[in-house]
Amino acid sequence: MIYRPGSKQFRLLALISVLIYLPFATAVDAAETGQQVSINSVRIRQSPERTRLVFDLGGFVEHSVFLLDNPLRLVIDIRNARLVASLGELKLSDTPVTDLRSAVRNRQDLRVVLDLTARIKPRSFVLKPILQYGDRLVIDLYAPDRLVTTVRQADRISRQMKDVIIAIDAGHGGDDPGAVGKGRIFEKDIVLAIARHLEMLLEKEPGYKTLMIRSNDYYVGLRKRTRIARRSKADLFISIHADAFMTAEARGASVYAISQKGATSEQAQYLAERENRADLIGGVDSVSLDDKDDLLAGVLLDMSMTNSLNAALEVGGEVLKSIRTVTKLHKKEVEQAAFAVLKSPDVPSILIETGYVSNPKDAAALKTKAHQKKLARAIYQGVTRYMEKNSPPGSFLAWKNHGQPNVVKYTIVRGDTLSAIAQKYRVSADRLRKINQLRNDVIRIGQVLQIPTS
Ligand SMILES: [Zn+2]
Repeated sequence: MIYRPGSKQFRLLALISVLIYLPFATAVDAAETGQQVSINSVRIRQSPERTRLVFDLGGFVEHSVFLLDNPLRLVIDIRNARLVASLGELKLSDTPVTDLRSAVRNRQDLRVVLDLTARIKPRSFVLKPILQYGDRLVIDLYAPDRLVTTVRQADRISRQMKDVIIAIDAGHGGDDPGAVGKGRIFEKDIVLAIARHLEMLLEKEPGYKTLMIRSNDYYVGLRKRTRIARRSKADLFISIHADAFMTAEARGASVYAISQKGATSEQAQYLAERENRADLIGGVDSVSLDDKDDLLAGVLLDMSMTNSLNAALEVGGEVLKSIRTVTKLHKKEVEQAAFAVLKSPDVPSILIETGYVSNPKDAAALKTKAHQKKLARAIYQGVTRYMEKNSPPGSFLAWKNHGQPNVVKYTIVRGDTLSAIAQKYRVSADRLRKINQLRNDVIRIGQVLQIPTS
């Protein structure tokens, strides 16, 4: 899905990301000043999903949390801190905590121990000052079965630096040669060569992932082509063709987006087929349409299609701008037609006719490697120019192009390794260890890492 800067969704998402990042935007280490940080008050609050313990602090602290058995207890170690507040007045009824005590360790560190009635899953994090609140250390105690939803939230955060996915569709293939030019020039071969070169260019560019709809000489059904792109949540679908015409005169490249009529009839058909709804991603917030009533489903689908069409027209325009520098244009504007592969309601899709194999001049150029590479590069330039301006929120590109804050937080989920996280965020594992004061590569599920993004 492409959210356009200036749109309501974009502004909302931008606001949400600022609110998420705000507390983590700077990581000043008060502990380094050598002064003990005071813990001014301690609060405990029970909600249906967790017990939250909040330490109100005089500054930033380093901490660690671990569980001990026999008897069951949670240990919170806070480095270089002293307790000013009293723990005796906390209301512990209805919480899994039966008692709470503290002790000084290593003369300057503080240890707080919670006696527990049940095996909980702890999660802890620090918050920077905001509004009336100062620095805080938050310890959440989850009943084990409640943790699943939290991990899902963490997973959403972990996808904040996702790559933009470009689906590349080389037309025809296998028994379908596409247009055939003089001297047995097959459209299917030319477009696969261009597609492969485009794939190579995009894969080299940080922030992009490609999805080849067909990677060799075989046929893929038209409906299946769009289905592959949609299932993989592609941000853009590019179908590459080389036309033929009855007369040899027709020549030059053209770019197509779906026609309004094609989009409208497609919409009607989608709504008619109930089974399509379950896997149809609506225009906003990945809304599934299967549980919506017909009117709402129609509105969401319409919005999604309009967004996709607008995005397709814009990216098509950018591709035309670049492609005209390497070949003649058949039409100077993005044309609109009801091609089947352009009918994904939620993936902006364009179809590029790179030239006419029925025209001797076009055909002579199209069969050369040099011209195929030039065309691929022109498509690449158009696509990347569009994506620079319309980076999906939360993508690596959005961060790169719109200057997101210089630190993000990442919550460890099952299966994570420090080296994989380092690779994903394009920082060295060494830098990650240093910033997060890790002595080794051991990380825990639920642990929050500070990730430098510049
Ligand atoms: Zn074709």
